[in-house]
Amino acid sequence: MSSDAEGASEDRRKYEFRKVIEELKDYEGSGTQLVTIYIPEDRQVSDVVAHVTQEHSEAANIKSKQTRTNVQDALTSIKDRLRYYDTFPPDKGMVIFSGAVDAGGGQTDMVTRTLESPPNPVESFRYHCDSAFLTEPLEHMLEDAGLFGLIVLDRREANVGWLKGKRVEAVKSASSLVPGKQRKGGQSAQRFARLRLEAIDNFYQEVAGMADDLFVAKRHELDGILVGGPSPTKDEFLDGGYLHHELQDKVLGKFDVAYTDESGLKDLVDAASEALADQEIVDDKNQMEEFFENLNTGEEATYGFEQTRRNLIMGSVDRLLISEDLRSDVAVYECPNGHEEYEVIDARHSTPDHECVECGEEAIVQEREDVIEHLMAIAEQRGTETKFISTDFEKGEQLLDAFGGVAGILRYSTGV
Ligand code: ZN
Repeated sequence: MSSDAEGASEDRRKYEFRKVIEELKDYEGSGTQLVTIYIPEDRQVSDVVAHVTQEHSEAANIKSKQTRTNVQDALTSIKDRLRYYDTFPPDKGMVIFSGAVDAGGGQTDMVTRTLESPPNPVESFRYHCDSAFLTEPLEHMLEDAGLFGLIVLDRREANVGWLKGKRVEAVKSASSLVPGKQRKGGQSAQRFARLRLEAIDNFYQEVAGMADDLFVAKRHELDGILVGGPSPTKDEFLDGGYLHHELQDKVLGKFDVAYTDESGLKDLVDAASEALADQEIVDDKNQMEEFFENLNTGEEATYGFEQTRRNLIMGSVDRLLISEDLRSDVAVYECPNGHEEYEVIDARHSTPDHECVECGEEAIVQEREDVIEHLMAIAEQRGTETKFISTDFEKGEQLLDAFGGVAGILRYSTGV
């Protein structure tokens, strides 16, 4: 339950980051007057303020008066933002963007954005001044935030570790007391076999315990677990129910790996490369499969803004599916007779006039907001999980093109 809830908010955060990054990428400044600062979590805020103050006084040497003023304004605005923080920035650090951007017709607008706690920690302090904001490091984080648990084992040795993005990290190892196949003289064959099985059982439990300590106790957001080793060890281990059920559910697959030392962890990642490539969209694919199944065989599916919204309000939506590439706003209108109506518009277009469908009167715009924000706010009130669906596969594209980017898997049929 808690991991689902965290997953949803993680998805939401990523969406919010993506949106801000898209906005920032559109901006241009004339000359090098757009300032970006990446601040790691262990950097003292007072250090950053000192750095910004220094840059501010150095900016006094900029020849063009306009650029000089703009840069200094941006730095002042950054210092103002930094005042909200105590000793250190938030968990995983933060990024501040500030500058005078072209607003057309020789005009500029001052823009300042702060992004806290990105998906991956900010690794190093960066001060960047250019005609565009520096967004690439953040974009990489959004692409490359995968975290996988790794287990390799045979009956003698085991290693557990992480795959973080592209980096393999060995964390814990264990070796077993399982005796070889050769029994000592004087031992009955039966007794020897029993002791040996016991020792194997103990070792598997120990390995499962290490996985537990690492993958469950630390409460990481795991994208999956890979298990490797020779046959039949890894099969015995997985089929024997040793792993905590939460972990067992996350196993993406088992792979033949010859070594069970640290190099075995790397071999495991190589052997699983295809599974890992699929993994990123595997959940999205499953969601869309389920949606289409429901749509074809029953009525427990909904799509399009109006229908989905109505179902959301009724509390009948189990999962809200939103296309990652949906960029639309919803305008809320009210007519003189009090009818409330909605219209979905391309985010780049201006708000159109609206005639009330109910009574034909001219309706007045009450507000306009991002469709995704609008629907997610209702979903959160109703305990509905939101899933963002990639457009990197056919059914994901269909969600955007054929269903308006919005759909829902229902808890029960509502006939709406
Ligand atoms: Zn009306």
